Amino acid sequence: MTSSTGRQPTFSCEFFPPKTDKGMDNLGIAQHKLDEAMRPAFYSVTFGAGGSTRDRTLETVDHLRGVESISVAPHISCIGSSREQLRELLARYIERGIDRLVTLRGDIPEGGAVGNDFHHANELVGFIREETGEHFHIEVAAYPEYHPEAESPQSDFDNFARKVRAGADSAITQYFYNIDAYDRFIDRCERAGLDIAVVPGIMPITNYTSLARFSDRCGAEIPRWIRKQLESYGEDAEALRAFGADVVTDLCARLLHNGAPGLHFYTLNQADATLEIWRKLNP
Ligand code: FAD
Repeated sequence: MTSSTGRQPTFSCEFFPPKTDKGMDNLGIAQHKLDEAMRPAFYSVTFGAGGSTRDRTLETVDHLRGVESISVAPHISCIGSSREQLRELLARYIERGIDRLVTLRGDIPEGGAVGNDFHHANELVGFIREETGEHFHIEVAAYPEYHPEAESPQSDFDNFARKVRAGADSAITQYFYNIDAYDRFIDRCERAGLDIAVVPGIMPITNYTSLARFSDRCGAEIPRWIRKQLESYGEDAEALRAFGADVVTDLCARLLHNGAPGLHFYTLNQADATLEIWRKLNP
């Protein structure tokens, strides 16, 4: 599959650290299925709010790399972690041959304590560059529909630019279903001279209630026509899944056609919904 730019797009998949051994086994199965069909360029593993999964992220990275020789990109966030803790974590990743990180401020944990060493992701990007030079390919988060805490669209974009200028190599977006928001974000990057790949984050649609709840929290809009259609399925999970797969496949196809540099799938540790989209994209 090529995009309209003629470059080969990059595909990646995101997991979260499972809480149980069974969850870890299931993750291995999902990863194997995704690998057989898609051969993603890398799998990323999230980092719990406030550093709550610092160790479990590392364990998940080790588990995945032990299963097959695949490229894994841990997420690393700075809220709730000290410079010393992050320095140690970076050293452990370097020891393991990890060379890509998804670098974030992180969600502020509910009522949780927030450390004082870092306040925003641009500071963490700068810290990683200071400590480890060019060792890591650094991904950062981008928000085509704006971050929920943003003071204004302009300041949110300026803050994104700070992360790029601090040394980010590429970005992955929050998921969105409004393609215009992504196109405008890319135009804005071009006008600002930010020459980095901004890969759309893709959220498959499998469950309306949890998608609506999460979208409210993270500031991703579910367009009215999609929301109404999803609501109309009620308990009919099969119809909802089929509609969701169509809508998201169409979004992916249009993004690639317009030149998106790749797609990053938020798999929620389930292979099937991502693979359904993948197969529809590659009939
Ligand atoms: P920042 O870039 O620091 O931005 C946060 C807010 O602060 C924005 O409103 C921004 O405009 C503002 N801001 C930024 N810099 C400055 C500055 N220097 N001065 C003043 N204001 C500023 N969360 C997790 O907890 N774990 C994960 O593993 C995780 N993975 C994610 C992966 C992706 C691809 C994405 C898109 C999000 C992920 N998140 C994750 C969610 C993310 O942590 C939250 O959206 C968080 O609230 C912001 O993180 P950030 O890195 O975008 O922060």
